[in-house]
Amino acid sequence: MTKHVSMEVPRSLRCFGSRLIAANGLDIAEWVLLPGMCFGAKDAWWDDGKARPHPHEGIDLALYRNRGGRVVSLDGTTKVPLAAPGEVAVRRKDFLGESLFVRHGLFDEEDRELFSLYGHTRPGPGVFPGRFLEAGAILATFADVSGRGKGLLPHLHLSVAWIPRSLPPGVLTWERCTRGNDVVLLDPVGILEGRDLVTSLRRPYDGV
Ligand SMILES: [Zn+2]
Repeated sequence: MTKHVSMEVPRSLRCFGSRLIAANGLDIAEWVLLPGMCFGAKDAWWDDGKARPHPHEGIDLALYRNRGGRVVSLDGTTKVPLAAPGEVAVRRKDFLGESLFVRHGLFDEEDRELFSLYGHTRPGPGVFPGRFLEAGAILATFADVSGRGKGLLPHLHLSVAWIPRSLPPGVLTWERCTRGNDVVLLDPVGILEGRDLVTSLRRPYDGV
């Protein structure tokens, strides 16, 4: 079994949310995660909340509440910044766009390396395996998901994991990185540090 732990996201990644806000000029009062967007969720937030095949391996960023009180969707122009310096290890198509796995050169006491994993993106020019990127670099934009699923919104799937140094990039699939028994998967919600977060809204967005 993969270890799902509540260990906090390492400090170097916690500014991701702030960088996302700055890179896109968002007028944000608080982030909104529907229950199915949270780490460990058993059900999806689209297709009438169908059961997920596995507990959610990360969080889905798609919604925020603006300062006027409205719940707003991020769209396909949303830029995805890099929180901490890292090297692109994997770029691979996924079912809504492309996935990028970034290694951060930080190791735990069991020789596992810190990775941030991004799903459903359109990578920017020059973002390919082996490329080293500085903090704040734009990795990608959100993929356009129109017409792909009932109630599906453009969103970024983000996972944070400690992955054994011994694994070559060629074997780093979502399956291997999030469900391998030697991988430690973290709840990435700490990347939204510094902002309020709502996880209790349901569609149509009640409490707005
Ligand atoms: Zn997801």
